[in-house]
Amino acid sequence: MAQETSYSKDVLEDLIDGKLPWGITKRIISDLKDSDRFDKYVEILQERTGFEERILLPLTEHLYIVEKGGDRIVKCDCGYEYGDYRENWKLKALIDVLETEDELDEIYPGFAKPNAEFCEIRRYYCPGCGAQLEVESVPRGYPIIFDFLPDLDAFYGDWLGRPLSTKKEFKDLSYEFIARHLKVPIDQSQTM
Ligand SMILES: [Zn+2]
Repeated sequence: MAQETSYSKDVLEDLIDGKLPWGITKRIISDLKDSDRFDKYVEILQERTGFEERILLPLTEHLYIVEKGGDRIVKCDCGYEYGDYRENWKLKALIDVLETEDELDEIYPGFAKPNAEFCEIRRYYCPGCGAQLEVESVPRGYPIIFDFLPDLDAFYGDWLGRPLSTKKEFKDLSYEFIARHLKVPIDQSQTM
């Protein structure tokens, strides 16, 4: 019968850093999850970032959702803030688009290169520290992809059994953000 296993913070730190051999990594991730593993994980990230705000969830290697005042915002480990986590952070990042043959050749020498007639590659960078945050390869003109909008209230309330102090509507606010910045009315029927 499977037994609940608890791992020390040191082991989890090595797991996060990719320092563990695959055999051990596999055993840890396929074991039953120990109940406080998420808390230990967040504790490590909290120490590493040195954030004053509480980390609610890590999003990428550099980005975190943190609780700031009554808000939940996306924040880079450099301290740069991207605002409400329900607005796609990519809309506030620096974007480098590779769309010509030559530009695509830079990163795809040889046959694997996407067809520049139909595809573009977007690289997203943090305005605060310049770190590359994400890369997406999409058909030309494709809307910016919102990779992950977590339902934090369900996660904390239903999964961890300790609801967050304030509730937020679970809704993608990216279109409202775009409309606000372009100052154009928005057709709500297009947003979901
Ligand atoms: Zn940054």
